[in-house]
Amino acid sequence: MIKKILVANRGEIAVRVMRSCKEMGISTVAVFSEADRMSRHVSYADEACCIGGPVSKDSYLNIDNIIAAAKRFGVDAIHPGYGFLSENATFAERCEKEGIIFIGAPVKAMVEMGDKINARTTMIAAGVPVVPGTHENLETVEQAKKQAAEIGLPVLFKASAGGGGMGIRLARTMEEVVDAYTAAKSEAKANFASDLVYIEKFIENPHHIEFQIMGDKFGTVLHLCDRECSVQRRHQKVVEESPSPLMTPELRKAMGEVAVKAGKAVGYVGAGTIEFMVDNNRNFYFLEMNTRLQVEHPITEEVLGLDLVKLQIKVADGQPIGLKQEEISQRGHAIECRICAEDAENNFTPAPGFIKQLTEPLGIGTRVDSYVYEGYEIPIFYDSMIGKLIVWATNREYAIERMRRVLYEYKITGVKTNISYLRKIMDVPDFVEGHYDTGFLEKNADLLAGEKTYEASKSEAEDIAILASYMDYIVNLDENNTSRTGDNRPISRWREFGKRAMIRI
Ligand code: ADP
Ligand code: ADP
Ligand code: MG
Repeated sequence: MIKKILVANRGEIAVRVMRSCKEMGISTVAVFSEADRMSRHVSYADEACCIGGPVSKDSYLNIDNIIAAAKRFGVDAIHPGYGFLSENATFAERCEKEGIIFIGAPVKAMVEMGDKINARTTMIAAGVPVVPGTHENLETVEQAKKQAAEIGLPVLFKASAGGGGMGIRLARTMEEVVDAYTAAKSEAKANFASDLVYIEKFIENPHHIEFQIMGDKFGTVLHLCDRECSVQRRHQKVVEESPSPLMTPELRKAMGEVAVKAGKAVGYVGAGTIEFMVDNNRNFYFLEMNTRLQVEHPITEEVLGLDLVKLQIKVADGQPIGLKQEEISQRGHAIECRICAEDAENNFTPAPGFIKQLTEPLGIGTRVDSYVYEGYEIPIFYDSMIGKLIVWATNREYAIERMRRVLYEYKITGVKTNISYLRKIMDVPDFVEGHYDTGFLEKNADLLAGEKTYEASKSEAEDIAILASYMDYIVNLDENNTSRTGDNRPISRWREFGKRAMIRI
């Protein structure tokens, strides 16, 4: 029985995992870098331990130090979250060797699916349709040119070890091939341990639709339905929803069966995601498998009423999933927005800093998976994503209305965020109608462009409003200390002033 888990991650996902542990009565150990002492995952955990310097390779990627912490605190298992060591076979093997349960994919599946060239070969052998392309590393520019011509332009050069949208370059003409190949290769070299690059046919206006799968040690592999992830910037997801607006019951059944087949082909255990490209004629092709929990897993949880982290822990502990495929169906609609500390008006450059004011949305159908708080300083060393805003409603139309409402309620000052950009997305006709593909953000760039001065003046106005409401509180201390509230409470000049400060912008 797993009684104690070390979470080898930070940020919102570390808190997310610990929340499920709490509900299961499992105690938690946080590990943190020197830059993360004040981070929410540290205070949330039952115990915590510093594992090294701010740079990821010294801490969150430092296998020796994480294992040492696991032994010192006597944990039964390690949950790796996503990113960092979650898809690292060396780490999973090391855990096994030390007698610690790794709450993630089996090493074999990780090796077979972790590398895109390998995954394509494995999937073809299993009879899964893959995006047309090559299956070996391109060693020279000449090879790149030859194979691009064979497959037919346009093509994408992709890093075999790629992730997070990095190492992907488009070539529409033969002239572009050299640059695309070289850029993909050097980006791969800079970001991943390997610089292997291969070619995929570029599918025009595709949908990114993925299937959550879950397997146990008894050979059961189930699919947990679809997520639409086509709202992307630079091949990275910004907004996700479930079910996909493009989906039909027939397509879901067909893709779900292929997802299960893919999982079974590698003996999958735990939570994984099979990503597909789907063209406008609803032809679908295997893209890649992520052998871990995904950032956007909450939308699946919301429509299925399941806790994926609990299921992960359960199957890692050697228990059966305890569900049947026919028991799994989506109810209502869920949307997730990724909230990032970045400057949406300045090419989305990361914008870490002090959070001065934070009001997170609440109310019916609202879920905030986050880790920041008022007064917290977002460190410069890690991902700019500070949290995720998830809504559930009975149908898609209501879910969009709800997302508009919670984005309106979400107030964060001190750092720049993409919240106003997300608000605009919720009003773009293509999104509202559910007619969009991976080209959506680029196509609607004009509608999504911002007014440059808005954020700065808003931050200033909010400072004034905070002061004004505090003055209001002081001035009305008498009233505030009695039961006179609501309509009975006199409106002070200060409150009026605070409101005007907000209206002015
Ligand atoms: P999802 O498919 O769930 O959106 P992403 O591919 O965007 O996940 O990656 C999730 C997180 O993991 C991000 O923080 C990303 O930067 C990180 N990540 C993904 N792949 C890699 C990789 N190969 N190496 C390092 N970090 C990665
Ligand atoms: P990563 O490992 O970085 O997540 P993926 O292979 O999953 O990389 O691709 C990320 C995104 O890049 C896809 O969701 C899609 O928008 C785009 N993409 C990747 N391959 C293709 C392709 N063959 N045709 C068109 N778009 C693609
Ligand atoms: Mg992907």
